[in-house]
Amino acid sequence: MTDAGPGMILTLNAGSSSLKFSVFEPGAEPRECAHGQVENIGGTAAELTLTEGTRKTRLGIGRAHHQSALQAILGQLAPLLKGRTIAGVGHRIVHGGTAHAAPEVLTPKVMAYLATLEPLAPLHQPHNLAAVRAAIAAFPGARQVGCFDTGFHRGHPWENDTFALPRRYYDKGVRRYGFHGLSYDYVSHELARTRPELAAGRVIIAHLGNGASMCALRNGNSIGSTMGFSALDGLPMGTRCGQLDPGVVLWLMQSEGMGAVEISNLLYRESGLKGLSGLSHDMRTLEAAGTPEAAQAIDYFVFRIRREIGAMTAILGGLDALVFCGGIGENSAMIRARLCEGMDWLGLTLDAAANEARAPEIGHGRVRVLVIPTDEERVIARAVNAALQVAG
Ligand code: AMP
Repeated sequence: MTDAGPGMILTLNAGSSSLKFSVFEPGAEPRECAHGQVENIGGTAAELTLTEGTRKTRLGIGRAHHQSALQAILGQLAPLLKGRTIAGVGHRIVHGGTAHAAPEVLTPKVMAYLATLEPLAPLHQPHNLAAVRAAIAAFPGARQVGCFDTGFHRGHPWENDTFALPRRYYDKGVRRYGFHGLSYDYVSHELARTRPELAAGRVIIAHLGNGASMCALRNGNSIGSTMGFSALDGLPMGTRCGQLDPGVVLWLMQSEGMGAVEISNLLYRESGLKGLSGLSHDMRTLEAAGTPEAAQAIDYFVFRIRREIGAMTAILGGLDALVFCGGIGENSAMIRARLCEGMDWLGLTLDAAANEARAPEIGHGRVRVLVIPTDEERVIARAVNAALQVAG
């Protein structure tokens, strides 16, 4: 603790070319003071945006890597910190493997284990860990806390945790981990806070953004996720393929002569909405495009989600609420309408006016339909806050 007041909490959420951050004041419920991001890391013209109350700052910072991006962020935050230190840094870590579920202090031993998981989440894990190293260099006295996207699902029942491979692969960690756990954590807690009767029931949360997945919850616990061993499985995404017959991978190897690097690039970076539309990974662009290919990409996205709503309803033994979050889930009235169309047989009927008006509750059937904006940063800040209290 410094004379200026208790140390602040910084949260970092690192992607391949972006570093999102928030600063929180610690407390029983951490208070967000500022947030922003550096985009185009690795390119020649990275840009930092910072929002602090109503004040927005945009700043070109030239060529940047994760460490220099963090330094640039810190330079902008200095006036806001008013002499206070950063006491704890919370990191979104996409993959915690079999060993890490609850938030944890990132010791060298934990970091070494997390690095072995990089091949399972190549779009995220290496960048998450790069941000941790940068934060250790910038704040050597701060607690570095990892929050794992896989953690929320680690209580999956066995049949939803395994693949039908020889058992030794399960023992080696070839499992259905599930991801987007920080988002599901936030949304399920909001549901419990605002509508406890629903949170105790059978709920599907659809996190639909650039990455997309769904989670089936019973009494607030994940019992199934559309994502599996890697963040490739399940729903089609911006650039990721979603569910795929493994025979396709064999065919790409045997008939197209492709190797692991090429296939990884194809499935992670060139598929999904981008691959199908031949135009863009971005839903807004596709909605505006009006080309037959863009329309078909949206058709496939909608079809696969509807299929999974049916499958998850079956494993839940019925449905009490469907909750949308993520950039598409929160903002696209058109996609929400198409997902709910003709679902009256399930007791799920959209209120078209409420949907268009972006109301928090958008159904008027037996199954409640909700939009709950997600906040992964707050989940991370709460975990750091708890770790700081334990540390005294
Ligand atoms: P996220 O990864 O959660 O930030 O979500 C990004 C996705 O949300 C992109 O595909 C965006 O095009 C999409 N998105 C954001 N706003 C809208 C909107 N108003 N309408 C349709 N899609 C949107």
